[in-house]
Amino acid sequence: MKNPLYLLNCYLKEFDSTVTHVSDDGSEITLEDTAFYPTSGGQPHDNGIITTTDGRLFNVIDIIKKDGVIVHKVDKIGLQVGNIIHGVIDWEYRYKLMRYHTASHILSTLINQETGAEITGNQLYHDKARVDFSLENFDRSLMQGFQNKTNDIIRKGLPVNFRILEREEAFKIPSLVKLRKQLSETIKEIRIVDIADNNFDFDHQACGGTHLKNTTEIGEIEIYELENKGKERRRIYFRIKE
Ligand SMILES: [Zn+2]
Repeated sequence: MKNPLYLLNCYLKEFDSTVTHVSDDGSEITLEDTAFYPTSGGQPHDNGIITTTDGRLFNVIDIIKKDGVIVHKVDKIGLQVGNIIHGVIDWEYRYKLMRYHTASHILSTLINQETGAEITGNQLYHDKARVDFSLENFDRSLMQGFQNKTNDIIRKGLPVNFRILEREEAFKIPSLVKLRKQLSETIKEIRIVDIADNNFDFDHQACGGTHLKNTTEIGEIEIYELENKGKERRRIYFRIKE
């Protein structure tokens, strides 16, 4: 599987595929293609169901990446190599994660662009998200400013697009230069997520997550908690107002 289906179309809710491997105990399977997102990059795995052509139904209860292969854990045994399946993603849950994911890009980029702070971690949930960064000066009014600026960007209605670039091409993008050291030489192609239109070139990041098509789909965010995790280690939580 060169590119999983969720990377080619983040809005794909259902798909057909074939079982290519079943673990010895029958609880874990791989598919020829999948739109199910595995836990990675701070984004939790999808939930959903798999049905077979003869009407059997399996709940997908965990999805992980093992040695680059996407493995689906199902709630009961019975699937066999060669079974044709139909997969359906719990779209309500995933769409919330896509909104939080895209909002995290904007907030993290603003913090980095305006303070130089290094983003050291992030975690998404369906009802909140966390961003960790290193910054000396940190207070509520500064974070209030980032909340407002994030909402300004969201309201601009910027398109979110992706493209796949050859490694060396990708590193010509200024915001990606520092990735050169972090990304293994074996990675020859890099997926770039662009948040920009003809008038406003906001951000370009390497990312294998699921994103919205337009920033307006996020809604409005609020930063509701600030934590100091030690010298210059900061953590903020935000949520999307429903
Ligand atoms: Zn992303």
